[in-house]
Amino acid sequence: MDQVAEPELPDSRLTTSTLPQGIDSASPFDEMMSRFDVAAQRLGLDPGLYKVLREPVRETKVSIPIVMDDGHIEVFVGYRVLHNIARGPGKGGIRFDKNVTLDEVRALAAWMTWKCAVVNIPFGGAKGGVICDPASLSRGELERITRRYTAEIMDLIGPEKDVPAPDMGTNPQTMAWIMDTYSMHARHTVTSVVTGKPLTLGGSRGRIEATGRGLMLICREAAPVKGLTLAGSRIVVQGFGNVGSIAARMCHEAGAHVIAVSDINGGIFNSKGLDATALVAHYEKHRTFEGFQGVERVGNADLLELDCDILIPAANENQIRGRNAPNIKAKIIVEGANGPTTQRADEILNQKGVLVVPDILANAGGVTVSYFEWVQDRAGFFWREQEVNERLEDIMCQSFRDVSTMAEKYGVSHRIAAYMLGISRVAHDTMVRGLYA
Ligand code: GLU
Repeated sequence: MDQVAEPELPDSRLTTSTLPQGIDSASPFDEMMSRFDVAAQRLGLDPGLYKVLREPVRETKVSIPIVMDDGHIEVFVGYRVLHNIARGPGKGGIRFDKNVTLDEVRALAAWMTWKCAVVNIPFGGAKGGVICDPASLSRGELERITRRYTAEIMDLIGPEKDVPAPDMGTNPQTMAWIMDTYSMHARHTVTSVVTGKPLTLGGSRGRIEATGRGLMLICREAAPVKGLTLAGSRIVVQGFGNVGSIAARMCHEAGAHVIAVSDINGGIFNSKGLDATALVAHYEKHRTFEGFQGVERVGNADLLELDCDILIPAANENQIRGRNAPNIKAKIIVEGANGPTTQRADEILNQKGVLVVPDILANAGGVTVSYFEWVQDRAGFFWREQEVNERLEDIMCQSFRDVSTMAEKYGVSHRIAAYMLGISRVAHDTMVRGLYA
């Protein structure tokens, strides 16, 4: 493996679909399975259960024909993968991105299964994706894609079946369109069919910030493992979407020094720390770092290798790889993205003594507050933001402790421990339910 040269990464959003096979990032599903296999082996998982848990329940591909604004017809492709429903309805976001592949959606769906089990919420795992470039589509085109995609998967989703949510390229407006389309066909309003909705349409307070807040909490809990405190730690964040930008702001507000951040076009750096609160406000207004004073530019590849205490990759899959892992200087990596670190990179980082807090624990704040939103919609009773945040904090801290205990008990990395915890919970519940035949 080591002899195979890895291609240069032109930007932080390069995904596996453009990479040659046979190196550490050939397939997100293979990356997921390589960890699943190690965890299953350590657990002594029954071979029959292994077969049940690795196999997605259902994979759906739909065609989405749309009349574009200029009058011509375009056909988009969408997927929804339901990975597992042993512990409850499928749960997971919908991604709009030009690099979406079925393999990626399948991996993301499986990660949702383990993620929901790690934080012990009563959901299985699912994920959706539409191959499109949201930045180049008008609002009307996005709405038509969303509504047609929803209509195509209408029979498969529902509050008790499979509950979508936002992911890369989708947002509360997208969720409002999904909710409306589903509700129009049901002939009554069904808010709990989707989470991450606008506040006035059954959304939960704190949902937008939830993934970033969860990451900040995990940074705070993980810091002492390396003799650090979050306040005063030097933090680097890759990716400035909803996850990265809010994680940066929350870490800054907790007293950390956010020394560098990046978006798809590259990064900015200030060794004394950026005012991340002001930076998020600037970015919301201008959609670029251009014009933000007192910073140097840094490339996306160099950003990952900066001297810092905590690195938060919050962009895309396969960013930390065999090629750059040896150069990582962070003491702790807290994964905001799903699948940002390859198996090969994990091995290198473990050897170097870097603490990697895996995606299925670190970024679980989003789906945790999605669970709260689903509960509130079904109860028709909405919580104060403080209540949402306190419950989120309880779950994130408890889950970090559960994973750390597992890691210590079995002498494994936090990644393998998180998989072991998630898999053991799903395996247990599958056994208790039994197989219907
Ligand atoms: N897309 C987010 C994730 O990957 C959130 C999923 C959800 O809220 O259901 O965890």
